[in-house]
Amino acid sequence: MTPHYTPRRIVIAGGGTAGWMAACALARTLGKTIELTLVESDAIGTVGVGESTIPPLVKYNQLIGMDENTFMRETQATFKLGIEFENWKVDGEKYFHSFGATGRDHWSAGFQHFWMHGQTQGHTESFDDYCLELQAAYAGKFAHLPDNRINYAYQLDATRYAAFLRREAESHGALRKEGKISRVALDSETGDIAALHLEDGTTIEGDLFIDCTGFRALLIEGALHVGYDDWSHYLPCDRAIAVQTESVRPPIPYTRAIAHDAGWQWRIPLQHRQGNGIVYCSRYLSEDEAEARLLSTVEGETCSNPNRIRFTTGARRKQWHRNCVAVGLSSGFMEPLESTSIHLIQRAVLRIIRMLPFGEVAQSDVDEFNDQQLTDMYQIRDFLILHYKATERRDSPFWRQCADMEIPDSLAHKIKLFRETGRVFRREEELFAENSWVQVMMGQGIMPESYHPVATKMSDEELTRFLSTQRENVARTVAGLPEHHAYVARYCGAR
Ligand code: FAD
Repeated sequence: MTPHYTPRRIVIAGGGTAGWMAACALARTLGKTIELTLVESDAIGTVGVGESTIPPLVKYNQLIGMDENTFMRETQATFKLGIEFENWKVDGEKYFHSFGATGRDHWSAGFQHFWMHGQTQGHTESFDDYCLELQAAYAGKFAHLPDNRINYAYQLDATRYAAFLRREAESHGALRKEGKISRVALDSETGDIAALHLEDGTTIEGDLFIDCTGFRALLIEGALHVGYDDWSHYLPCDRAIAVQTESVRPPIPYTRAIAHDAGWQWRIPLQHRQGNGIVYCSRYLSEDEAEARLLSTVEGETCSNPNRIRFTTGARRKQWHRNCVAVGLSSGFMEPLESTSIHLIQRAVLRIIRMLPFGEVAQSDVDEFNDQQLTDMYQIRDFLILHYKATERRDSPFWRQCADMEIPDSLAHKIKLFRETGRVFRREEELFAENSWVQVMMGQGIMPESYHPVATKMSDEELTRFLSTQRENVARTVAGLPEHHAYVARYCGAR
């Protein structure tokens, strides 16, 4: 089937983070060359979570011309340097997945090879000592550094972020229509989406429709039935409950992911409050038990009602089908463990813009979009599965199920390669780079059996200098950084 439409009238269905991120980027980039309408329903509301992000969002914000001071102030954001994983390998142990690199690589081998060689030569310092972002996070410090020497993301208030994006999008010409979509009308000849009918009788016609209706997936699934690949045999958590609490201490520059016997809990510190949630597998924990557990472990007074959310991890088989593209939760969901959903929205939106033609949409563009978007999702899925599979926990049926599960060949290969040789290779535009894989694999207890021989070519003296210089640089830089919370307060005050 060949598409026959020129995407001049673009309609976005849904105004959560996905809808407004799409609207903002499209309005900013394409301006008056398109007619942009976004429909959302205040009565339905948004999913109300999605507060921890990863570094590419910094670029997205720059791309849409967002001033960082204003953004931080309006969304009550804090800086994020990584995620701390507690109780994932075994109960009582923790590790950190940071956004920065650990140590300096040699062109032929990653830093871990030199560090491992050092360990055999009596250098007992931890791998963590060589990572600036990790050390700054644990010291509770942050500042922007010249040449982007510190790699960071944000922890933000999702509702405020959507409102902020809305103002930006509307100021660049996006038209917002409040109302509930009651029917998605298909063109009887082409089978494409022709219009959205709202409860109040309004009809919104368009050439290209972007489905941002969240888990409902009203257009891509409800009308076009593209199908869903269920990945819950790999990622067994299928429920979450979120609650907000008042801050009890200055916000730290990282997110916490604390494993429990049937899933994990998050803590995301913002300027004005903390986001908390429990993610779990409904086979092993009931909703009431999960809520009780969440409420008994949060710090500070709750300032929202618990928000119960159900999901099935997986992906729509086609992300772009006919004249409809799914963006956000309508395209699939892989649980929030590594804060990747907002990033997938960003990737989808930027890809749509790159692939928009002057004339009619070509099927080859649609195929390319699907291939790229799904490749991202497969790669992220593998990285998430790693956290569950590579565990030494056997203390509950949930963890035994994770440890025993079959995993994709692509992940099995990656683990085997690292275990045998200490090597990780980043494929194509894979989101998670070598450092992420190394930190999580080692954190989860996978230690390489050997390392690259190039590391042994350094004399003892060179190796000592190589390692100590880097450790000292990290320590010196961290010592010179201001406290994170003081920096945020100053930064948000600045214009
Ligand atoms: P929603 O926020 O659900 O928005 C859907 C929109 O569609 C709403 O505006 C709604 O009104 C509209 N709508 C629906 N039906 C209709 C209708 N009939 N008529 C009119 N309008 C309609 N991502 C991260 O990157 N980091 C995180 O830390 C993170 N944590 C998460 C934790 C949990 C428990 C979950 C479930 C998700 C998390 N995510 C996270 C994902 C993140 O929340 C979403 O990717 C993001 O909020 C985008 O959601 P959305 O806009 O697709 O959907």
